[in-house]
Amino acid sequence: MGPRRSACVAAARITLIRPVISRRETRCRALVKYNSRSFASSTSYSRQPVVPSNVAVIGGGLTGLATAHYLAMLLPAASKIVVFESSGQTGGWIDSRRIENKTRDDKTATTVPETFESGARMVAPQRNAARYDDLLLLELIDQLELIDELRVSSLLASQYIYYPDHLVNVSLANAKPSTALLAPRPNKLITGWARGLLRIAQNWIYYKALVSWAIRSFRHVHREPAFAGIWRAAFGYLVPLGDRLEDTHARMVAASKAPGRVPPPSSDESVGAYIMRRTSGQARPLVNNMVSALMHGIYGGDVWKLSVASSVFRSGWLAESVLPVFQLYSRQAKIAEMRRQRAIAQGGADARPTDHPDFPGQNDGEGGGVAEFPPLTKETLALAQEYDGGGGRKLVAMKSDVALLYDIMARMRTRHEQWENRGKTESGHQQGRSPADGLGMLGTASTRWTQFGFEKGFGTLTDALTRSLRSRPNVDIRTGQPVTAISYDSQRERVRVSTEQTAGIDGEWFDRAIATVASPALFRLAGGSPTSSGLLPALRHEHAVTIMVVNLYYSEPALHHPYRGFGYLIPQTVPLDQNPEGALGVIFDSDREADTRSLWDDERYAAPPVDLDDVEERLSRDKTFAKRLLESSQARNKASRERGSKYTVMFGGHYWDDYRYPDDYPTPEEAVRMAEAVLQRHLRNTPGFLEAPDHPLPRPVATQTKLCRECIPQHDVGHSQRMAAVHDDLRRSFGGKLAVAGGSYTAVGPGVLPSLRSAYDVALRVAGRGYRMPLVENGRNETDMAHVGDTGLGRFADPATDGVVPVAQRKLPLRFGNPTVYEQGRWRYDGN
Ligand SMILES: Cc1cc2nc3c(=O)[nH]c(=O)nc-3n(C[C@H](O)[C@H](O)[C@H](O)COP(=O)(O)OP(=O)(O)OC[C@H]3O[C@@H](n4cnc5c(N)ncnc54)[C@H](O)[C@@H]3O)c2cc1C
Repeated sequence: MGPRRSACVAAARITLIRPVISRRETRCRALVKYNSRSFASSTSYSRQPVVPSNVAVIGGGLTGLATAHYLAMLLPAASKIVVFESSGQTGGWIDSRRIENKTRDDKTATTVPETFESGARMVAPQRNAARYDDLLLLELIDQLELIDELRVSSLLASQYIYYPDHLVNVSLANAKPSTALLAPRPNKLITGWARGLLRIAQNWIYYKALVSWAIRSFRHVHREPAFAGIWRAAFGYLVPLGDRLEDTHARMVAASKAPGRVPPPSSDESVGAYIMRRTSGQARPLVNNMVSALMHGIYGGDVWKLSVASSVFRSGWLAESVLPVFQLYSRQAKIAEMRRQRAIAQGGADARPTDHPDFPGQNDGEGGGVAEFPPLTKETLALAQEYDGGGGRKLVAMKSDVALLYDIMARMRTRHEQWENRGKTESGHQQGRSPADGLGMLGTASTRWTQFGFEKGFGTLTDALTRSLRSRPNVDIRTGQPVTAISYDSQRERVRVSTEQTAGIDGEWFDRAIATVASPALFRLAGGSPTSSGLLPALRHEHAVTIMVVNLYYSEPALHHPYRGFGYLIPQTVPLDQNPEGALGVIFDSDREADTRSLWDDERYAAPPVDLDDVEERLSRDKTFAKRLLESSQARNKASRERGSKYTVMFGGHYWDDYRYPDDYPTPEEAVRMAEAVLQRHLRNTPGFLEAPDHPLPRPVATQTKLCRECIPQHDVGHSQRMAAVHDDLRRSFGGKLAVAGGSYTAVGPGVLPSLRSAYDVALRVAGRGYRMPLVENGRNETDMAHVGDTGLGRFADPATDGVVPVAQRKLPLRFGNPTVYEQGRWRYDGN
């Protein structure tokens, strides 16, 4: 490694978070790229990878298709990729169907040009998290040229929970008055003291609205049983009891044994137990009502079983045990420096510092150690510096999540530079739009969105992926070919994939295989059964819940209003007579869709860039903006009035954990009747509904049902430990040639974004590529993607492969409302 290359590596070690790629770094990357002859989009893999000549992808859902897509981009054209899909079509749980020309009571012909979604329908951008998986999806949308199909919403829709016998609005913050009311409103006619009076009036209006909102919200929370226990929980959170402090301290010590690591698996607990602990045991009603409803909406699972370490509460759980350790090291580093300076001042450089009274035993390591904590090392000092590096509030981020942002930015930059260089050399080259601009614009615009999807449903994405893969000569998508078994020949070091078509013959052999099916299905494919553990015994206790999805379309508009919004969830505590069907929640699809616009419409409604010093322009912008908002809300209301009412009702989840036989589940006809009963009871026979109680619902003009067997993987407490065991099984039984990807394994929560991310990670690793992971220990400092490993589960087997870093919230581009500008193949963010 030459001196310039070493400098590159050192640069990567020192600073993890650099939103803007410096010139020097761009040079470094170019050098790394040149040295390794790597593929343009990702930095290189440190060791010489063995490129597989053929790869089997098992499962043609989003994860399988995306895995094949990335493999096709990364592997040489000679490598063959085969996707096995058991059903007749690709997409898995993403299934969008257009419903046309249904009839009402078989008499009146009614055209219903609507889409029914039985699986994923929308994605929320990760704008308030230190994660960038959504950029990966936007990049895919750009690559597949689906920008025109996008439907986005920048509105905050109301969300409800049903408890105990009516709908309760739980999105109170949506009604909070906007601080835009405080923005100065310059007017040429108003000057001097009049302007001051205007400011006072503005403040008066804003704070009056704020106080009135606070009083209304307080009354609402106080009156509704759904919020029972919230004050006690808040008190318990703010005034911790002694044992909670002790517990936190014990967790800090455990975590500090390996600074910058995720807490040990033994500290995993259920989401319910975590919230109880954080609130000193005061939050039981809150967990049983609000949080259980949330868990029904995301996982269809039980709040007292789901693992906090794998849930949407993960970042809070990590921060709880990791941030205090960074804080402590930061303080320790400062004290060590002070003592060093004092020792130099007192007796020269060799003088031995005396112990600090607060930190006995501080004579070890570089700067000393605190009782029960390891001494300051280079690594802990670097973390302390990162923690201390300014930028306000600190968050905990996984290194791999931040590395993903770099990877995407590096790819954008490369594409932009290639385009620019082509412009310099080719005389006929158009200097129009850089290919990096599509993602640049999407990423920037997405910071305003609350959700996004596609006009004709999420199937647009999987269909486009399928079309794109089918157009590649080295990809073979085999629908209607269920894999019946997977095994491994250690002599040949190849994976055998058997299907019904290869029954009786030797099966098909592959250098690598990637399973994207849910864990219970993989357990069976590897020979597992109720009586046999098969090749992957650690998968035996992994499970996924079954959900019955019912879509209903009524030709009458807004049947559920005044409860306009996204929909409602039903907590575990709702009395049986209010939910005998075991419904988990209802989505108001017609409202949700009415709130979305094409990207270009959304852009038009966004405030145009103007010189804020120009008073006239500012005024006219305000007027235009207000007019546009009015137009937009009128258009939405019109759309709601013109369209019928569309709902999705979901049943089952953990309520059906004991169901074993096909007869246990409702038939499609029963499911529709159940869904209608739920809507009648929850929307019509409920206090607060505008019309008279018991006002009957009309019959739907179109319905669709889908029983989604084992569709939402459940990461119950101990998931990380079980995945570590699965990693060992995969290495032992398949020599590390079979990897896993998808919601059952690595993802934090089920969903499109984690599925896509796991597909990307595994494909990079299998293709011998990787994104930059600055790992300081054991000499690993490049892109070995050890956190993915041969099995996709590296981080569970060795937590040291992926660490946590403190990041300043203000320094994360495209997040937390940070002002980020896209320009010339990069996002520029000046976050000091
Ligand atoms: C009702 C519902 C609503 C959802 N809503 C949202 C949402 O709004 N937003 C969101 O982000 N996510 C949502 N999700 C989650 C999202 O749909 C999933 O995370 C994603 O589709 C999972 O894709 P996958 O490819 O990992 O798995 P799957 O979709 O399960 O794909 C696996 C594929 O493997 C195939 N297969 C199984 N066994 C075999 C075999 N033996 N041989 C060959 N092929 C096999 C299956 O047929 C299937 O096509 C929802 C899920 C459900 C069920």
